[in-house]
Amino acid sequence: MRPIYFDYNATTPVLPPVRAAVLPYLGEQFGNPSSGHAWGVAPKRAVAIAREQVGRLVGVGAGQVVFTSCATESINTVLKGLLGQRAGKSLVITAVEHPATLAAAAFLQEQGVRVTRVPVDGEGVVDPAAVIDACGGNTALVSVMLANNETGALQPVAEIAAALGDRGIPVHCDASQAVGKIPVDMRQLGVQYLTLAGHKLYAPKGVGALVLSPGQNLTPLLHGGGQEHGLRAGTENVALVAGLGAACALASADLEVEGERQRGLGLRLLQGLERLGADYRLHSAGVPRLPQTLFIGFRGLAAGDLLSGLVGHDVAVSGGAACHGAETTLSHVLEAMGTPAEYARGTLRFSWGRGTTGEDVDQVVERLGRVLGSLG
Ligand code: PLP
Repeated sequence: MRPIYFDYNATTPVLPPVRAAVLPYLGEQFGNPSSGHAWGVAPKRAVAIAREQVGRLVGVGAGQVVFTSCATESINTVLKGLLGQRAGKSLVITAVEHPATLAAAAFLQEQGVRVTRVPVDGEGVVDPAAVIDACGGNTALVSVMLANNETGALQPVAEIAAALGDRGIPVHCDASQAVGKIPVDMRQLGVQYLTLAGHKLYAPKGVGALVLSPGQNLTPLLHGGGQEHGLRAGTENVALVAGLGAACALASADLEVEGERQRGLGLRLLQGLERLGADYRLHSAGVPRLPQTLFIGFRGLAAGDLLSGLVGHDVAVSGGAACHGAETTLSHVLEAMGTPAEYARGTLRFSWGRGTTGEDVDQVVERLGRVLGSLG
């Protein structure tokens, strides 16, 4: 049976042109971009080009891009850079942020930072007014993701940032799941900090970026040789940075067309589920979502059983709930949405991408049909 990968929100394959952009810097172009001699020239140029390519994809200039090792690092840099050693200050986040944000916030809370986790509605979306109300005179940062990694639901980041801009409260947006899938313009979003992750958009793992609006500053996590405008010391990972740049350039080239194609694949998947007569609920069905994510709860079933059934049919997806003996732990996102247990327990995340064809979707439906048949 041909294996089918439907877990692009976990990570994406490295596209061949991206790999080609990486390889020279693992070979003869091994120099340090900070070196003043000949070996430094090509690596320095590669980093500069990548900085422009990343900036272009999110609508800003190269000077605003700081390369990091991953989204987790970017998020930690912003949260700890603005709130570390600042007991008594406050941080506002949503209840459905990625663990990178939740755990960094919990760490800061232990140090005396006040953390407010704003709840979401049944669709997994935060009310902008609730975020704005949660902010007070001591609020040093608001952090809201753009697209949720489980549901794909888009959060009203621009509305939040517009309201807080007048009050001088900076906003960080974790756009790791959005960049490369939908148009993301940092200026239109109006946020001061934006995080993106290479391996969610066909670049290798181990590289990400933090994008800052002009005039922003923060205390770096890493002190050292002053690289990355002094915000992230350490010799640049030239190969992976070049890969991230190439991936951003590819995304910029056909973002909307490819997004529509992938949205069409989602419709095809849902039509397939209808044909199967599956009893399911599409989470966040009524709100704007990523074009290539469906978070689906199968009534009365357990995600673990569905996952192992699909593994047995060579289909890779993710689950929204985990079983520990008789206990089921729902993802914090489903918990926050208050999803009824009969649908929440049997939730799977289907996420696809550039490599996915209509035939893949049909195969997934067919194999899922067999799994549902064996469990029903
Ligand atoms: N933020 C979001 C929304 C994510 O989906 C992820 C990864 O799944 C991250 C942050 C963390 O990314 P990384 O593990 O690459 O640092």
